[in-house]
Amino acid sequence: QQLLLEPNCIFCKILSDQIPGTKVYEDDVCLILMDIHPIRPGHVLIIPTRHYDNIMDMPPTVAQHMMTLAHQMTAALTTRTSTSSTTEQFTCHGTNLLWNNGRAAWQTVMHAHLHVIPRQKGDGLGF
Ligand code: 5GP
Ligand code: ZN
Repeated sequence: QQLLLEPNCIFCKILSDQIPGTKVYEDDVCLILMDIHPIRPGHVLIIPTRHYDNIMDMPPTVAQHMMTLAHQMTAALTTRTSTSSTTEQFTCHGTNLLWNNGRAAWQTVMHAHLHVIPRQKGDGLGF
């Protein structure tokens, strides 16, 4: 595992516990990490547990697993479990899946990651 990480990569340092990160799920292929600057509450990053710069140097099976996790997260977040007003404010109505590949495409951390951004009706976020 250690050999598959890059010493100067911030996400590799989180994967190997050299710096802190809020990990919400981990399996052999992926880690789900809370974004340090969330665009909306609950914004997470799905990252591979070994270093790939982005989708261009990754086996398709890894990309498929990342998308499977994004699908499961979206399904779980948008499943209504209660109709009471206290939980209504936390209801997620949809997600944005965002994957920036390459600096020309807004990628700033060069360890592949798929953003999952929870959205609510009228949340005021315009993109
Ligand atoms: P990009 O523009 O590369 O798609 O997005 C990089 C994301 O990584 C940004 O949303 C940013 O907030 C997040 N990020 C950058 N550094 C850290 C960090 O040290 N920890 C965590 N958890 N997220 C980070
Ligand atoms: Zn890395």
